Amino acid sequence: MQLSSIARNTRASAIRAMYNEARKLTDTVSFTVGEPDFTTPQPIIDEACAAYQRGLTHYTPNKGIPKLLNAIAQYHKDDLKPKPDEEILCTCGAMEALQIALLTLVDPGDEVIVVTPAWSNYFGHIAMCGGVIREVCAKEENDFMPTVEDFQAAINEKTKLVLLNSPSNPTGALIDAETLEKLAALFVKHDLFVISDEIYSKLVHDGAKAHSITSFDGMRERTVYVSGFSKMFAMTGWRLGYAIARPDIIAAMTKLHENSSSCLPEPTQLAAAKGLECCLEDVESMRKSYERRRNLICGLLNDIPGISVRVPKGAFYAFANIRSTGMSSVDFCMDLLKKTGVVTVPGTGFGAAGEGYIRLSYATSDENIMEGMKRLKKYMMNRSGVRE
Ligand code: PLP
Repeated sequence: MQLSSIARNTRASAIRAMYNEARKLTDTVSFTVGEPDFTTPQPIIDEACAAYQRGLTHYTPNKGIPKLLNAIAQYHKDDLKPKPDEEILCTCGAMEALQIALLTLVDPGDEVIVVTPAWSNYFGHIAMCGGVIREVCAKEENDFMPTVEDFQAAINEKTKLVLLNSPSNPTGALIDAETLEKLAALFVKHDLFVISDEIYSKLVHDGAKAHSITSFDGMRERTVYVSGFSKMFAMTGWRLGYAIARPDIIAAMTKLHENSSSCLPEPTQLAAAKGLECCLEDVESMRKSYERRRNLICGLLNDIPGISVRVPKGAFYAFANIRSTGMSSVDFCMDLLKKTGVVTVPGTGFGAAGEGYIRLSYATSDENIMEGMKRLKKYMMNRSGVRE
């Protein structure tokens, strides 16, 4: 008896693979999982505790409780302007929103364009709905921003959907407004759907702004906008995300949500609404500290012979070039882990375009960053064959 083809063909995440490998060792310095090291702001925690104390421990409406739907609509009043009762669905993390958006829009055999290097879970999500991945490789020389020409070349009669992620995990790239406008015209011309994963939109550095594809002509009605609370409010463990789309898409996604996770805990939803109401300043202070750590880690990485990194514009990842070592990114990460205890993620975990790179999450303390980079520098100095 054989497991299903979906189970056999769905890839596990390279990020978790390194994380699990590192758990077998002691004295490690980890740059793996993309998770804020801050605790969720106190008012959010207090709101959830009070809700549990009040006994709010029951099923809730599939789409989300009105208080949270209204808070999300208010938060998006100047951009997507969603109708709270028809155009928003709260999900178990942005992860579930992405999965059910794909299941809603993609039939087996349809092609889905993904900009690579891409967040590793996209590969699993697309495999789970029988979609076929068509990669558009973003190049380091273009600050990992995809070009309109590359999209044009990737589109064919089987293309159904484009998955965008700006700011990007793993490269930190931000797609500029001019490129987004041209992409929007291209997607409208070819009648394509878009899923726009904008979970890092509040974490953009150097005074820049994340632009959304939904703001360009013809895109609001063909886009499922996905975001969530994990990165913004350091709420990864709470598992709360949301999707915004036109009513028929949200209605279809709600059926899938009802048949999988069903609904979300009321205390979690009340807590997230509280966050949107009163904790946006906390988000900005966390962002500032990511920007400072980004400058720290990029400065230290660029000081290591044989390693270079482009300063990422958003999110909290550095995607460093290790090509000078001549090693594959998997061999490099494994060897580095074994010899120094520094845990990084091989670039190929984010698609073939990631070969020759490693990803480091800098959502970690200054001490970790300094210790990790000290070990990495020593490792590189001790290696033979580094071309400086
Ligand atoms: N999208 C991207 C690009 C991510 O990096 C992540 C998490 O790492 C997610 C979505 C999932 O976020 P959530 O914790 O809300 O499921």
